[in-house]
Amino acid sequence: MTAMSDLPGGPALPQERRLVTAVPGPKSQELMARKQAVVADGIGTVMPVFVRRAGGGVLEDVDGNSFIDFGSGIAVTSVGNSAEAVVRRASEQLRDYTHTCVMVTPYEPYVAVCEELAEVTPGDHEKKSVLLNSGAEAVENAVKIARAHTGRQAVVVFDHGYHGRTNLTMALTAKNMPYKHGFGPFAPEVYRVPMAYPYRWLTGPENCAEEAAAQAIDQITKQVGADNVAAIVVEPVLGEGGFIVPARGFLPRIAQFAKDNGIVFVADEIQSGFCRTGQWFACEDEGIVPDLITTAKGIAGGLPLAAVTGRAEIMDAAHSGGLGGTYGGNPVACAAALGSIETMREQDLAARARRVEEVMKPRLEKLAGEFDVIGDVRGRGAMLAIELVQPGTKEPAPQATTALAKACHQRGLLVLTTGTYGNVMRFLPPLVIGEDLLNEGLDVLEEALGQL
Ligand SMILES: *Cc1c(COP(=O)(O)O)cnc(C)c1O
Repeated sequence: MTAMSDLPGGPALPQERRLVTAVPGPKSQELMARKQAVVADGIGTVMPVFVRRAGGGVLEDVDGNSFIDFGSGIAVTSVGNSAEAVVRRASEQLRDYTHTCVMVTPYEPYVAVCEELAEVTPGDHEKKSVLLNSGAEAVENAVKIARAHTGRQAVVVFDHGYHGRTNLTMALTAKNMPYKHGFGPFAPEVYRVPMAYPYRWLTGPENCAEEAAAQAIDQITKQVGADNVAAIVVEPVLGEGGFIVPARGFLPRIAQFAKDNGIVFVADEIQSGFCRTGQWFACEDEGIVPDLITTAKGIAGGLPLAAVTGRAEIMDAAHSGGLGGTYGGNPVACAAALGSIETMREQDLAARARRVEEVMKPRLEKLAGEFDVIGDVRGRGAMLAIELVQPGTKEPAPQATTALAKACHQRGLLVLTTGTYGNVMRFLPPLVIGEDLLNEGLDVLEEALGQL
């Protein structure tokens, strides 16, 4: 019999960094050989170790190594892996029923998740939601809904934006390699405009918000025509593009422009949402109330669930039967989401994310002073990053970034890289991580930087 405390990720999992073999160890290497034989090469690997257990702030591999987790499975396990409330509620749901299809016979957990989404997302207007399986699917549905509502076709997205890997979302995504290369043709009626990227804005960060917004709006009005635009889709803090925090003032101007022109403003909060940046949603930071908001990743503690939530009159524009999917809003995933949201509320994980920033950012800034390969330190809450450059320039240093990530992995710290130029190291610890592990992870980073 398994006691509660023996659950993977339960208190029995020691919250420590521990290396007992080289990384990867022999068992991981054996499994990697099996993977290479049967798993398509298109599925890459950030750190070549196979996981046995994970929880709190650590991942334990099949060789018995324990890694500090600065990745959260790409901002998913914000409440920790196998979090108590997620496991409890999903297990109860597994016993009752696993699937009926909400379009055949509905069930309460789906409705309860939509009630929670109406509650936690910005704005006190009447809201409705549709639940889906993946972030990309949520973005696709937001575009479908915006087109149905406006009767228009064009979709405006931004430089460095990332919205998924399906056909429409590849078109919405900026970066060619690895997301789009060789996979075209892409969906039409997608237009990309400048993003206010302070570190790389040519005339300097102080002009960035105003100039970027003016250029974006000029391009939309002159090249697309504002009254052809169904939706503007933007990440309030950019994820795969490099954890870019748009210069303050940029997003409110774009949101106002959308409002003035009857364009649906869609905040893609799939990575930045659910307490990650220190608020329930990143767009709250500048008081933005999006018309539609897409969520996924952190929503359900690791189970696949995504949502589009927004103004009831916009959400209802799609006819009955026009939205949905066989698995969308699976009851087990919904139960997990209710457990995840409950955990965020009860443990005030938004405050924990702000604490992560308080601990990490000053130390990252200190490292930037000591190591001139770090060109920029940025991010909010527990969504932080360093951008690596050739010392003394702003020339991206992707090789150094890869080497630094590998050096961290070999020392027992899981970190992820990202960015249009492949030169951003991002930090996405679970929001429940202990402060000792946070600091130890930074010690490891410092040591790895010294070795570089
Ligand atoms: C991850 C991500 C997506 C895609 O989500 P999937 O679940 O991988 O399909 C879309 N938008 C943003 C901002 C993301 O970070």
